[in-house]
Amino acid sequence: MSEPQIVTIPCLSDNYAFLLHDPASGETACIDVPDHAPIVAELDARGWTLGHILITHHHWDHVQGVDALKAAKGGKVYGCGADAARLPALDVSLAEGDTFTIGNHTVEILDVSGHCDNHLAFIVPGANAAFTADSLMALGCGRLFEGTPDQMWASLSKLAALPPETVIYSGHEYTTSNARFAHTIEPDNPALISRIQSVAAAREADQPTVPSTLAEELATNPFLRADDPVVSANVGLPGAPAAAVFAEIRRRKDNF
Ligand code: ZN
Ligand code: FE
Repeated sequence: MSEPQIVTIPCLSDNYAFLLHDPASGETACIDVPDHAPIVAELDARGWTLGHILITHHHWDHVQGVDALKAAKGGKVYGCGADAARLPALDVSLAEGDTFTIGNHTVEILDVSGHCDNHLAFIVPGANAAFTADSLMALGCGRLFEGTPDQMWASLSKLAALPPETVIYSGHEYTTSNARFAHTIEPDNPALISRIQSVAAAREADQPTVPSTLAEELATNPFLRADDPVVSANVGLPGAPAAAVFAEIRRRKDNF
């Protein structure tokens, strides 16, 4: 089975869309559509046909180009059936535990709500990939617009249980400010200190900091580290449950 190719497409001011292409079958999926034009251009430049449009969640900066992309390039629209009322028209309704295939590769659905209700992540084990949008982000996580801290901690815990070599394709280039915040939680974490340096170098060179690996996030992302005794002590909650530590870290970030 050949490895799929994954292309990162910057959209709007700081969003990312992704193309996942299976060379064996020629099938291509687009994950989120912040803006259709750069995605159409990338498909045309590569000569790829679009079969699947995957939506992570209802926010406008992830869906506003869906209808225009479908009109231009075709493709079936996949999204959370429970959220159909506020998503573009769906061809395939999904819920946690569902699977479908892109070429020979299985896509698994996780519900990773917290940022908003009915936020899906698309896991492609054959590509070592997780498309997490505004749930788990590089050195961060999405703000809790609809969900509770307990719910987001449960969602992040599902992602944390994936193989550590999983590559995390998240939805925004927020990593520079996430890094500044992370340093306030764990100023003495050597893995974090070195990641902050590589993030700064990448941004100076105008390179994206997305994707990252789950292993990097487990070592440096304060939101994934709420179950670490050093982190709970650093936020003044030694021995507290991880979800409570997570809630305190999220509260601090909201006021950062
Ligand atoms: Zn969002
Ligand atoms: Fe977003």
